[in-house]
Amino acid sequence: MNATGSCHLIWLRNDLRIHDQPALFAAAQKQIPLEFVYVLDERLIGPTAWGFNRSGRRRLSWIMANVQELHRQLASFGHTLYVSLGHPVNLITNRLAAGGVSQVFLNDDPGFEEQKDADQLRSFAAARGIPCSFFSGGDLFEFSQVSHLLDHQGQGFTPFRQKLERTGFVPHEPLQLPDLSRCSSSYTESIHGRDGFLVDWKQWQAQMGFKPEQEISEHGDRGLVFELFQDLPVDSRCDFTPQPGERCGLERLHDYFFVGRSLQTYKETRNGMLGSTFSTRFSPWLAVGSLSARSVWAESLRFEATFGRNEGSEWLRFELLWREYFRHLSRLWGRRLFMPEGTATTYFPRTERASAPFEQWCMGKTGHLFIDAHMNELSSTGWMSNRGRQVVASYLVHHLQGDWRAGAAWFEHQLIDYDVASNYGNWTYLAGVGTDPRPNRVFNPDLQADRYDPSGSYRRKWTS
Ligand SMILES: Cc1cc2nc3c(=O)[nH]c(=O)nc-3n(C[C@H](O)[C@H](O)[C@H](O)COP(=O)(O)OP(=O)(O)OC[C@H]3O[C@@H](n4cnc5c(N)ncnc54)[C@H](O)[C@@H]3O)c2cc1C
Repeated sequence: MNATGSCHLIWLRNDLRIHDQPALFAAAQKQIPLEFVYVLDERLIGPTAWGFNRSGRRRLSWIMANVQELHRQLASFGHTLYVSLGHPVNLITNRLAAGGVSQVFLNDDPGFEEQKDADQLRSFAAARGIPCSFFSGGDLFEFSQVSHLLDHQGQGFTPFRQKLERTGFVPHEPLQLPDLSRCSSSYTESIHGRDGFLVDWKQWQAQMGFKPEQEISEHGDRGLVFELFQDLPVDSRCDFTPQPGERCGLERLHDYFFVGRSLQTYKETRNGMLGSTFSTRFSPWLAVGSLSARSVWAESLRFEATFGRNEGSEWLRFELLWREYFRHLSRLWGRRLFMPEGTATTYFPRTERASAPFEQWCMGKTGHLFIDAHMNELSSTGWMSNRGRQVVASYLVHHLQGDWRAGAAWFEHQLIDYDVASNYGNWTYLAGVGTDPRPNRVFNPDLQADRYDPSGSYRRKWTS
């Protein structure tokens, strides 16, 4: 494209894939040059109220490794992924102001900040007569389709699921990959060549990866970004290390369902802690969108068509509905998801702030081996089982009387599968300040250890 031409700008966020990609699918329908943009959000490397950054190195590395894979994929179709670091709305609106964009395409994201960003972009684009098209990329169902199933009084998951089932709605089939070769890649020297604005991935990687040490310290937290392209050590105790990108996400899906047939026994194994197949481990790919929830849903139906109906695949869809529920809840509640009283209509107050016990909890030094083992696994790998997450969250809130928001922030810092809606939704739920609030959603860590780690293998593994 030259400066006078026009292109379709696709703003990628937590939807780093080309399969089942509604925004890309729509943008590629006309033979108009495509411009793919990803902005590493500077808010991710900003501080929290709890004395650490919002994102740790492991999480940032996972995100950027997926961006890199997407770059490779797009390059194989002759397209360029432009990348920048900054406030996404500023960068994208600056790009629109520079001219040459005839329409913007993006998938809706349920996070509060992401929703605000989208609103700002919408107003900016509308004022300039640039259409902005939003799609439901990460959900099973569109918010407009199911929002009436959530009532504003804080209705719980079960009524949502039951009502949804009664509607008979089914997620639509994943979208095919559009013919990207029909569209050329957009490039304008005066725009994309500008320092610090939008540069192609390779240039960005070179800039970010090879800064000298003194520049890293001068940039404070931004130093984290400069470290992104150095290899992170893999803990030898780790049973499963996800590889970035949609090809690997789809491979894991295929292996778990059709090669190992682990889905068959998922209902019985899903509360496990050791090994690589007790649960699907799809969450890191789902979080950055290199795997779509609709693909998982559709493949689970194909699994049943091949091997017959079974409780494992049904239970997996049940879990995907939890994810769905929290995503729509996040849209509904906005900022309230981060408030101390959460989304509760009945508030069971917790006044304590982060403290020494909180730090011990984070560092896996509470003295309770079952808790410490989980927190060590989290620090060393960026992941923890669902059972583990429930028990350590309950321990922080109910045993240590800690502030649930500090725990949620530590998860946000550490988890490679961090997802704003699932993380804050689950924390509020366990702290008794979400929908369906109960002050006594308490997990006894001794009983949990006896039940789920009877031989002590998990504890020995992660505390030695
Ligand atoms: C305190 C707490 C914080 C959490 N934070 C996150 C988070 O930041 N990101 C995240 O993806 N999940 C989060 N979860 C949900 C759940 O623990 C993880 O999704 C799951 O452990 C990921 O592993 P898996 O993919 O093997 O899960 P599986 O058991 O194989 O489940 C398949 C998929 O179903 C969805 N799912 C399963 N359980 C839940 C649940 N309780 N809530 C929402 N979705 C669910 C996930 O997308 C998951 O990948 C949290 C749970 C708790 C209790």
